[in-house]
Amino acid sequence: MNPQKRSPRCIVIGAGIVGSSCAWHLARKGAQVTLIDSEQPGQAASFGNAGCICKSSIFPFSHPGAIRKVPAWLLAPNGPMRIRWSQFLPSMPWLYHFWRAGKASRVEEIISAQIALMNTVIEDFDEILAQTRGEALRKSDGMILLYDSRKDFARDAWKYESRERLGFPWQRLTHDELRSMEPCIRLGDGVAVFEPEWQHLLDPGVATRWIADAAFERGVRWLNDRVQMVSAGADSVSIVTESGRLLQAERLIIAAGVWSRALVGQLGYKVPLISKRGYHSMIGQPNLAIHHPIMSASRHVLLTPMQAGLRVSGTAEFAGLDTPPDYRRAKALMQNARYYAPGLAGETITEWMGQRPMLPDSLPVLGPLAEQHNVLCAFGHGHYGLTQGPTTGRIISELVFGEDLGIDLSPFSISRFRSP
Ligand SMILES: Cc1cc2nc3c(=O)[nH]c(=O)nc-3n(C[C@H](O)[C@H](O)[C@H](O)COP(=O)(O)OP(=O)(O)OC[C@H]3O[C@@H](n4cnc5c(N)ncnc54)[C@H](O)[C@@H]3O)c2cc1C
Repeated sequence: MNPQKRSPRCIVIGAGIVGSSCAWHLARKGAQVTLIDSEQPGQAASFGNAGCICKSSIFPFSHPGAIRKVPAWLLAPNGPMRIRWSQFLPSMPWLYHFWRAGKASRVEEIISAQIALMNTVIEDFDEILAQTRGEALRKSDGMILLYDSRKDFARDAWKYESRERLGFPWQRLTHDELRSMEPCIRLGDGVAVFEPEWQHLLDPGVATRWIADAAFERGVRWLNDRVQMVSAGADSVSIVTESGRLLQAERLIIAAGVWSRALVGQLGYKVPLISKRGYHSMIGQPNLAIHHPIMSASRHVLLTPMQAGLRVSGTAEFAGLDTPPDYRRAKALMQNARYYAPGLAGETITEWMGQRPMLPDSLPVLGPLAEQHNVLCAFGHGHYGLTQGPTTGRIISELVFGEDLGIDLSPFSISRFRSP
């Protein structure tokens, strides 16, 4: 297809924050877009996440020494990680790639790539929220990071040295400062850090829904159906849906979160994309007032004040795609939250599980397939998909229209997982 063509026909699979943002950006530039999802927009991982727009989250989960922490995490009763026994062997190749991504030289490359992608996330949110009526859902209050001890804080010293060097603002809070910002939080002998650049959404699911709605207002066609088959020829792409529809277009955008693995698999690509499950407990009418997102680096829990109450989220569970949720993980998050906010309760508590589309090097796959250039990948954003969704949508639209990208996409290429 001629990339300069005025109104290319595009199919976007997946109406999470990533696919909805792709559809909106493409339609704005004049593409004829069909957005397809088996659920309603903003229902999967994009529904129940912690809502944080975290520009400074540039560090990969794998780094020198990270793999050694895994056994302790797995053994701790309320620990941040679980692997279901059935997933133990299937997780091994992914853990191997994870370990390899943690070599010092590779970590530097990953951080550089993540910085490049994070560079414009705030401006991309400014643009998309302003034009989709979502601005009222955004707060720019920063985030407070807690460590239970000075020893825990010292372990992250390298991150603060890097942040300092790279110009990400942060500030260590005195206990008095913490008390004045968050009177209900108890920290004992721990350390609190404030990161002023963080923002959060009061309802990430609704924000995603509104982006999709704005795309529909711009003429995007909505199809509530499941894609079963994808194929790509030299001049066109086609999909077949569960209900038997056959659709053709010039470009296919795969933005199906963790389910993208099976779709690119049909086109001959094997990616180590897994579901890293997370949970939340949503406390309606909480009895304690929390004003900022508060994250514990020691207990791996995040408390976010939202429109519907206080969301307590986190955890990493490797359980495969289709096994039922284990809501003990959501209850463990509540116990960890009560360590800092004793007596935390509310009128209602609802529990939720979502699947982070996670690659071992913590970077997403962005850009065309190596051989089928008319298929564009936009998946695997892991812990930062909300943050990077609007930016990804803009980049995908720039690729389709043959515009200047302003970012080198080679670190995000699907080919990085090909065996040497
Ligand atoms: C507990 C938790 C907390 C998080 N906190 C944050 C945070 O604070 N900040 C942040 O930036 N990120 C956060 N994340 C990560 C973020 O939620 C995800 O990275 C992001 O939502 C992924 O968006 P997506 O659009 O790629 O996928 P999804 O939202 O999962 O959407 C994929 C869509 O594709 C559809 N689909 C799949 N296969 C098909 C098919 N064959 N046919 C049709 N439709 C299909 C699905 O139905 C789904 O709607 C968190 C995640 C979790 C679980």
